[in-house]
Amino acid sequence: MATITINGNEHEVAEDATILEAAREHGYDIPTLCHHPHLSNVGACRLCLVEDENSGELFPSCTTPVREGMNISADEEENERLFQSRRLVVKLLLSDHPNDCMTCEADGSCKLQDMAYHYDVEIEDESLGIPKETPRFEIESDNPFIEHDPDKCILCGRCVRVDNEVQCSDAIEFVERGFSARVGSALKKDLGSDESSCVFCGQCVQQCPTGALQFKPSQGRGRDYQLEHTETTCGYCGVGCQLDLKTRDNEVVEVEGVSREGLPNPLGETCVKGRFGYDFLDDPDRLTKPLIKDEETGEFEEVSWQEALEYTADNFSRIKEEHGPQALAGLTSARCSNEENFLMQKFMRAVMGTHTVDHCARL
Ligand code: SF4
Ligand code: SF4
Ligand code: SF4
Repeated sequence: MATITINGNEHEVAEDATILEAAREHGYDIPTLCHHPHLSNVGACRLCLVEDENSGELFPSCTTPVREGMNISADEEENERLFQSRRLVVKLLLSDHPNDCMTCEADGSCKLQDMAYHYDVEIEDESLGIPKETPRFEIESDNPFIEHDPDKCILCGRCVRVDNEVQCSDAIEFVERGFSARVGSALKKDLGSDESSCVFCGQCVQQCPTGALQFKPSQGRGRDYQLEHTETTCGYCGVGCQLDLKTRDNEVVEVEGVSREGLPNPLGETCVKGRFGYDFLDDPDRLTKPLIKDEETGEFEEVSWQEALEYTADNFSRIKEEHGPQALAGLTSARCSNEENFLMQKFMRAVMGTHTVDHCARL
């Protein structure tokens, strides 16, 4: 352990902690854009500056380890130099950022916008004397799932780190240098091309703090504050990822993985099915009532649940009577809950009299 002082209070902190980790553990608020506790620390945005009162130096707290005896000032309300330094960081980020907030998909959920509001920085701030040169890049929109607007990128690298460190796809990286730097893919191939290793998990979009990466199927379907949020369990497989279904007018318009400590996937990771495979929910062809095929015409006819259950039970009984229990088998699904799968095998064994039960996940 190391003893350090934060905002005038002495604390025992883990000696391998960063200043940011130590400060947050003890409840001190330090703003960040590029940091995520489950990704490596890179100090890209520099918003987490703190002052070491012993040396008078400013450090990015997310990449600076604590040292015995440090005296850290992290409270910008008490430290005007700190407030102005963090404000300057936001000014610089906005100096080459487009003035698109009115029409940007991220309006209302954009962390950069929140920081501009907090530090009272105009998006068209001319005090730095840097002429704004946007647009500088073309919007990349060749695949069906993700749109990338490099002009709105603040080069925080959260997308690259979640892709490289958590998803392990290595599909995206920083490309070019200096003012031309942006997030891109190997050989500048679109994520949907055969040469890309992208699996469309969508983690990069979920981690983006600005409107630079967008889910294409959600575009124009409502801002975050217009959507209802419902937490549920993904029904595609037995992993059971937790999803935040975002709906508007009773239609699912976006899926985000629930990000919470204690979950096996605390960044809200999902696969492509859980993330983008939701259009069937509102598909007009989806079956909502049971159908029975008319044996004479061969056409399906809508029936009540009572009729359908009786029809099924009668035919189960008839087959068992005519051919014995071994003529019946039960095949169940990983999309059902454990309880439903238990009931299915119990029904086949105890009621139908057969042990011929199986499960799609085993095949
Ligand atoms: S990314 Fe954020 S700051 Fe940039 S235009 Fe969109 S809402 Fe505004
Ligand atoms: S969608 Fe997933 S695999 Fe593709 S670039 Fe983003 S994080 Fe990587
Ligand atoms: S695309 Fe988004 S997450 Fe990736 S570096 Fe740019 S701002 Fe950060």
